[in-house]
Amino acid sequence: MASITPGQWLPGLQNENPEEENSVPREMPILFLGHGSPMNAIEENQFVRKFRSVAQNLPKPKAILCISAHYYTRGTKFTAMERPKTIHDFGGFPQELYQVQYPAPGLPSLAQKSVQLLSPFKSELDANWGLDHGAWSVLKHFFPKADIPVVMMSLDYTKSTQEHYTLAQELKELRKQGVLIVGSGNLIHNLGLIDFKNFNKPNYGFDWAQESYSILKAAISEKDHKKLIRYDQLNKSVQLAIPSPDHYLPLIYILALQNKNEQAQFFNEEFVAGSLNMASVMFGV
Ligand code: ZN
Repeated sequence: MASITPGQWLPGLQNENPEEENSVPREMPILFLGHGSPMNAIEENQFVRKFRSVAQNLPKPKAILCISAHYYTRGTKFTAMERPKTIHDFGGFPQELYQVQYPAPGLPSLAQKSVQLLSPFKSELDANWGLDHGAWSVLKHFFPKADIPVVMMSLDYTKSTQEHYTLAQELKELRKQGVLIVGSGNLIHNLGLIDFKNFNKPNYGFDWAQESYSILKAAISEKDHKKLIRYDQLNKSVQLAIPSPDHYLPLIYILALQNKNEQAQFFNEEFVAGSLNMASVMFGV
């Protein structure tokens, strides 16, 4: 496939250093981030400290493509506005959280390019969504200046996990074009079983949560994508960990973009409130 130089579709975002313009671009890392409670956007804790320290080792992206658990739609969509709004897509939290703004610009050319890359599948531009908390609650810690353009990609709830994996592979080229692809969800996310009384108990995970995390982590480390795609065939503990696909699917996108020689690097592997795990995993850093 002919490669496209960034300037052709990332107007105004050409390499700042002209000598490097024609050099072979380094592939951007890919990240799956466990976002947990929206309060992580404004709280100071070990998770956000780790986000900040990981950010220090990332090359500066030209743009971010964020696949969020909270952008769950019929059909695959990409936000295509110049100025995406900050969406406070939750209820019952302190007022302070509703005042958070993440004014990163959009990048319609990246949205258009993504639709083009996904041409074997149907996808479309979306002028209505914005940045949901799956994006801004974590990106705020990685890029506090909000100066890197962000495009959101939705999860099509009509697709199978295998279809998500196959579709995501079409986006590989973006890694070579300076786009940081971030999946935001949670590996273990059962809100119905949260132990609210022990929300602040450090690293507290139910037995089934610990068992499922061992299974999922081992499969990620061993690059056993087949097993991870067919998570619904795994044991009962994994079914409790993933009661619905929305928070798990962003991981599937990141795995689909992993190169064969890239090893998983895990961080924030703590359990929260029994039925959540904050694990994040990165490749290519
Ligand atoms: Zn969430």
